[in-house]
Amino acid sequence: MNPLELVRADLREFAGYASARRQAQGGSVLLNANESPWAAPGDSLGLNRYPSPQPEALLAALADLYQVDAGSLLVGRGSDEAIDLLVRACCEAGRHAVLISPPTFGMYAVCARVQNAGIVRVPLRAERGFALDVEAVLEAVDDSVRMVFVCSPNNPSGGIVPIPALRRLAEGLDGRALLVVDEAYAEFAETVSAISLVREHRHVAVLRTLSKAYALAGARIGSLIADPDLIRVLRNLMAPYPLPTPSVQAALQALQPQSVALAASRVGLIRQERARLTARWRALSGVREVYASQANFLLLRVDDAEAVMRAAADRGIVLRKPDFAGVDLVSVEGGFVRISIGSPEQNDALLDVFGAGAGQERAA
Ligand SMILES: *Cc1c(COP(=O)(O)O)cnc(C)c1O
Repeated sequence: MNPLELVRADLREFAGYASARRQAQGGSVLLNANESPWAAPGDSLGLNRYPSPQPEALLAALADLYQVDAGSLLVGRGSDEAIDLLVRACCEAGRHAVLISPPTFGMYAVCARVQNAGIVRVPLRAERGFALDVEAVLEAVDDSVRMVFVCSPNNPSGGIVPIPALRRLAEGLDGRALLVVDEAYAEFAETVSAISLVREHRHVAVLRTLSKAYALAGARIGSLIADPDLIRVLRNLMAPYPLPTPSVQAALQALQPQSVALAASRVGLIRQERARLTARWRALSGVREVYASQANFLLLRVDDAEAVMRAAADRGIVLRKPDFAGVDLVSVEGGFVRISIGSPEQNDALLDVFGAGAGQERAA
C-alpha cells in the first residue's frame, strides 16, 4: 500500500519551514541565515553556523550501517523524535489511535497522549513469557488505528518477535495501518532485523538508535527506516535544524570502522554477562522468573520487588520498576524489576546485593 494514505490529509502536501540551509543554492559567503561570521572562542566545530538539517555524511554512514538507501532514512534527536513525528503525522487529534502491546516502551503512549490520539492496548501474553499476540493485535485494529508499535527486543521484557510473526502482522495490516518495529536493542539480539520487511512492504517502518549499542545516549541520534515518500513527509515536519553539530560529529566518530568494531566487541561482552546473570539469578529462590532477554537488560520477577530495589539502593545501585500499566497481572505473583546489564564489576556488585538477602541460593 502507499503509506501516504495513512498520513493526515492536511499534511501530505505540507512543505514545512523553509530554513536558510534548505534553500541555499551553493556559494561560500553565507549571508543568508543571520549567523555570526565568527566562531565563538574555543569553537573548532564551526558552531556559529546552523547545521545541515540532515547531514549528508551522517545519512551516508547510517545508510551504510543499516544497509538501506539514504532516502529511506530519517535521522532525528533519538528515535524518540521519530516516534513523535510518526504519531503527529498520521493521527488526527481526537480521531485516530495507535496500538501498543504493554508492557512496552512508554513513549508510544506518551506521544499519543500529546497528540490527543487514542491508545488501543493488546497486552503481551504474560503466561507465555510476554509473547506478542499477533492474531489479537490484528483483530483489535479498527478504522481508527493508524499504526501498530511492536518493540523487538521488547523493553522491558527483553523478548523478540520472530520475523515470520512480523511478516504475518505486516500482511494483515496492509491497507489498514503502519507497522512500526522499534529495534532500539537489535544489536544485542541474535536475530535478523525487520529492515528486510521495509523492502517488502511500504507500510512497514523500523526504528534504530545509536543510544544503546553505540554508547551515544547523550548525543541523541536515532533513525527511522521507512518508505522514501513517508520519510520526505516526516522531514518536512521536523524542527528546522534538529541535529546539533557536536552530536553529528560524535555520531560520525562512532561510525568509524574501529569504533564500530569496539561497539561489536562490547555487545559481545554484554551478551556474555547477560547469560552469566541469567544463570545466576535463575538459581536463586527469591527470584521466580528471569525472562529470556535479547537486549542489554533483564526483567526479573521476584518475591519482593521493593526489597530488591531497596537492597540495591543501599549500595548505591539504581534499578527500575517497569511500567505495567494496561497489563492484567492478577494471576502473576511477586513483582518486577528491570536491570540494565553493566560492566562485569558493576554486575558483580549487584550479584552481592542478591547474595545479601534479596534472594537465597536454591538448595542443591
Ligand atoms: C531507549 C529506547 C528508545 C529511545 O532511543 P533514543 O534513540 O535514545 O531516543 C527507543 N525505543 C526503545 C524501546 C528504547 O528502549
